[in-house]
Amino acid sequence: MKTTLKTIVSILLPFAILALAYFLFTKTDTWSQPQRDLIKLAPYAVFLLGGLISWKFNRSREFFMLILLAFGFYFITSLPGETEHAAQLADRFSIVAFLIPLNVAVFSFLKERGIFSSWGLLRIGFLLAQIAASFWLVQEGQSDTLAQMTKTRVPALSFHWMSGIPQCAVLAFVIALAILGIRQRNSKTSQDVSFIGVLFAMYIVLHNLHKPLLAAIFFATAGIILIVSIIRDSYSMAFTDELTGLPSRRALKQDMMKLGFHYAIAMLDVDHFKKFNDTHGHDTGDEVLKLVASIIKDVSGGGKAFRYGGEEFTLLFPGKTVTEAIPHLEELREKIAKRGFTKRSTGRSKSSAKSRSQSGRAGKQLFVTVSMGISQKSEKYKKPDEVMKAADSALYRAKKKGRNCVSK
Ligand code: GH3
Ligand code: MG
Ligand code: MG
Repeated sequence: MKTTLKTIVSILLPFAILALAYFLFTKTDTWSQPQRDLIKLAPYAVFLLGGLISWKFNRSREFFMLILLAFGFYFITSLPGETEHAAQLADRFSIVAFLIPLNVAVFSFLKERGIFSSWGLLRIGFLLAQIAASFWLVQEGQSDTLAQMTKTRVPALSFHWMSGIPQCAVLAFVIALAILGIRQRNSKTSQDVSFIGVLFAMYIVLHNLHKPLLAAIFFATAGIILIVSIIRDSYSMAFTDELTGLPSRRALKQDMMKLGFHYAIAMLDVDHFKKFNDTHGHDTGDEVLKLVASIIKDVSGGGKAFRYGGEEFTLLFPGKTVTEAIPHLEELREKIAKRGFTKRSTGRSKSSAKSRSQSGRAGKQLFVTVSMGISQKSEKYKKPDEVMKAADSALYRAKKKGRNCVSK
């Protein structure tokens, strides 16, 4: 439930920022000239800040996008007058209209490989080449090439919302949006959503040819959307376990402080996991941890699962007693014991005769079991830390009893 809410918030956030930007734009009529001049510099300040942040957090996709945005903004605002250069301005808008979606699409297929690595430098080269090509295109004598690019190919398909943006560029926008939309569905970060926000911001700019203030506000907004997403992702990364995707121990510490007057805490430990690792390899072990995590993530009874560390997990049951929580733990225990795990054929594992299931060859099902200990807040255990220790002792008893069971 909570994760769905988080996803919705992360999807809506860029659009909320865009709406705010539009609101700001509607207020610009009343601004003084110095204020207007200042806002035209704002995008560069945002891009600089964003560049530093994305460099520090090693987010090359954002870093390169910010370079492109900085160039795009410079390119469409650096013409001296407006009226006498109307045609040139339109050309520049058209070029930017191609560059933005093209790069968004290309970046989304490239892996994170650092900014100042050799891959990064290659990408900087790619950007510089595009910048050079843009300047070349607006030179005298290249109007034929540009005319070809911006030609309306299907007149029947030209609508008001496309005006100012060449038809092929609109298609590029749609393709880039589709790519991001598909990627977003199986991504844990807000990166793709933020790029969708950038595309919208740019579309708004490119659709409004003679509004320099609007261009400045929405270019700055695009930069802000990228910065917000970097900060959000790094924040949520700090509270998420990388391997399993469950909330991490740091998140557990925070949630433990928020527990009320009644609660139960359970500790869960995978049985004979050392042997499992020795038999099937560490990578298969990792896969099993992910499987266990995916099962306990959906714990019923209002519980919440965390990765405590290693092959140990913690479950918090706010407002529940041990007796109330145990059935939900039993359900998890059974699910895990029954869920076979199909080993991938990596060829890296050492198959040993002592394995608990048909091990070794790929395609065989492997099984693991877990033991759990649970305790609740009481006269004896008043603090969450004490309850957790008691749960740990109960876990020890579960192991003694022969594992694959829940003890209190
Ligand atoms: P028991 O049933 O008593 O819990 O036995 P055990 O072997 O599971 O217990 P022990 O705590 O001695 O071993 C835990 C093992 O878990 C040690 C380590 O190899 C493995 N382990 C811890 N973290 C990870 C991890 O992130 N990935 C993998 N693959 N293995 C891990
Ligand atoms: Mg252990
Ligand atoms: Mg164990």
